[in-house]
Amino acid sequence: MKKASPNQIERLPLYLKTLKLLKDENVLIVSSAYLANELGFSEEQVRKDLQLVSKKAGKPKTGRSVNLLISDIEDFLGYKTVNEAIVIGVGNLGHALMSYQGFNNYGLNIIAGFDIDENKIGTTIAGKPIYDINDLEKIEDNLHTKLVILTTPSDKTMEIYHRLKKMDIKAIWNFAPIHLKDNSKKIIIENVDLATLFAKLSHKIKEKECQ
Ligand code: ATP
Repeated sequence: MKKASPNQIERLPLYLKTLKLLKDENVLIVSSAYLANELGFSEEQVRKDLQLVSKKAGKPKTGRSVNLLISDIEDFLGYKTVNEAIVIGVGNLGHALMSYQGFNNYGLNIIAGFDIDENKIGTTIAGKPIYDINDLEKIEDNLHTKLVILTTPSDKTMEIYHRLKKMDIKAIWNFAPIHLKDNSKKIIIENVDLATLFAKLSHKIKEKECQ
């Protein structure tokens, strides 16, 4: 598989969103110029990105098939392979993630949650069971999920992480406000730092107000 830069990976879902809107409007062919204009990227950048994911080379001035591009981008991003996931820490954020149906479009299927709260254990969210965190290893032996979504409080996250490292987990999507890293590179970790994301927005608002 060709190697994409982190910026390219971030742009691909944006192309996908735009292409799906075109598909809904029954548009069959799209040009790099159109995508560049819609998304505020340079045409050259768009052409390079599409070349990276496309199985078929594009022809100059003819545009590309919208359906084919959607399929190629979804394939490249791994959305066509279903990744089953569990959520650990079913608080407000964990609950929202478990309820969100849109993940199906990205091949992400949350199948269960784990929590320490007795009032939550044994209940379901969107038809998915919440299990006791004490049974994590035992239940995971049967579930064999590749991905763990962590939404535990920061002071509980390290303890859970050490348990996960001893299990056969491939990836962690970490929403807990603590930075995780795996020096052994055995587990793929994606830290979602909402504070950093908000800092960017907050600074932009401040800049605009100072103009
Ligand atoms: P809530 O409204 O349920 O308190 P919250 O998002 O404000 O949600 P947090 O304190 O961030 O609550 O905790 C998130 C979830 O993590 C809660 O459901 C809590 O019961 C759960 N939790 C706390 N400790 C653990 C643990 N060691 N293992 C698994 N889940 C835990």
